[in-house]
Amino acid sequence: MSDTTQIPNSFDLIIAGGEVVDGTGSPRRRADIGVIADRVAAVGDLSQAQAKERVDATGLAVAPGFIDVHTHDDRMVLTQPAVAPKSSQGVTTVVTGNCGVSLAPFVPGSRAGEADPPGPMALLGTWDDYKYPTLADYNEALEASPPAINVASLVGHSTLRAGVMDGFERPATKAEIDAMAKVLEQSLKDGAVGLSTGLAYPTAIHAPTDEIVELAACLKDFGALYTSHMRNEGPDLVPSVDETIEIADRSGAATVISHHKCVGRENWGKSHDSLAHIKAAQQRMKLDYDVYPYTATSTILLKDFLSTSEKTVLTSSATHPEMVGREFDSVVAEWGCSVDEAIERLSPAGAVYFRMDEDEVRRIMAFPGAMIASDGLPIDEGRPHPRLWGTFPRVLGHYCRDHGVFSLEEAVHRMSGKPASVFGLTDRGEIRPGAFADLVIFDPKTVIDRATFEAPETPAGGIERVYVNGELVWFELSWTGARPGRRAERAAV
Ligand SMILES: [Zn+2]
Repeated sequence: MSDTTQIPNSFDLIIAGGEVVDGTGSPRRRADIGVIADRVAAVGDLSQAQAKERVDATGLAVAPGFIDVHTHDDRMVLTQPAVAPKSSQGVTTVVTGNCGVSLAPFVPGSRAGEADPPGPMALLGTWDDYKYPTLADYNEALEASPPAINVASLVGHSTLRAGVMDGFERPATKAEIDAMAKVLEQSLKDGAVGLSTGLAYPTAIHAPTDEIVELAACLKDFGALYTSHMRNEGPDLVPSVDETIEIADRSGAATVISHHKCVGRENWGKSHDSLAHIKAAQQRMKLDYDVYPYTATSTILLKDFLSTSEKTVLTSSATHPEMVGREFDSVVAEWGCSVDEAIERLSPAGAVYFRMDEDEVRRIMAFPGAMIASDGLPIDEGRPHPRLWGTFPRVLGHYCRDHGVFSLEEAVHRMSGKPASVFGLTDRGEIRPGAFADLVIFDPKTVIDRATFEAPETPAGGIERVYVNGELVWFELSWTGARPGRRAERAAV
């Protein structure tokens, strides 16, 4: 084969004899992978080549490191360099700043007097964590104290609103939109990969479509994209998809629908229509979505989300940590108070809401081109949704191997090559000469999530080794201490 001619004969690392699933969706093939410094230098028969280190991957799969395009890891990548919930799954790049909230660019300013950041900004931390006036400042902090894995950043629309508006309960004025656009454009120059919105949240629900279109119009020239946690994922799922398509159309921005799902029993089945609308729009625009492999959602504790939930379990509470793990209804009963009062007493708080249909989750996951992403919510004290630690191995083991939702090649593509191309991440997401050596070695026969709702902070099984930029970061269920993570750069346009 052409890729075995004119190859170097000396490498820093050779991963030998594995089944290479290269991220493009092509059939796996047995091959050796030669790494020099931070890049893959050769793929083929390297049995005669020299290497400082040779790793035997016989019987194992070797894939590009997974790219988790839907995360809320803005703070974790700075405070927990192992980023263990992700590196343990084989994730080598995370995209932060989803659902309209990003740590940067923002400082509390006049809001510092408020006790806590407004939900959903509180998902990322306290006011003390919001200390980066520009994305460049955030990038500098990452470079000074790099994590184990790579990071790409979205700018959150609610974060922009918090920076220029005195309240959230109205549309932004023309002057405020101009001010937000200026901050967004500077962030794009600083390397942001796009703009996210969380239109279901109180910080953004009063933003009309026009406000988003004006901001999203900044993205195209930078080759950046628009991602949206849509206004509604229940009764108004389809109109919300249509609003997202309208924003994509009018702004010209490549667009990603976040965590596509359908919540509330009476709404189950609406994804037949939402997927049809997405499929039709894909004929004329760049429109994609991500999905996580669970039937429960997770976010802040909010009354709006309770109405479509069959069971709601507390994941965190700043004021009543002893209630974590309890069903919300049982707390209301024990306190003998109203739902509103219980929310107020528990907040800032987070919850898991059981409100999706298994068949629908599979339908959405199986749709051509759907990207796998976690939407994990790291929390300091509490019991996070298991998607934080389990998403990728769950798809590989449970949905791909055990239930045949798609082939292994297709599963890996949706976790690596596809997201790299949608987010324009240069030289990532594929195994080929010249690409960054972000690699995961796993056992396709045993890979599985072990994080459960009861014990969510449990590393997956079957993930043998994880490399980031050529360095081993995860081995034998532990972080190696290496911190080779960098900014994952967006391709120039
Ligand atoms: Zn969201």
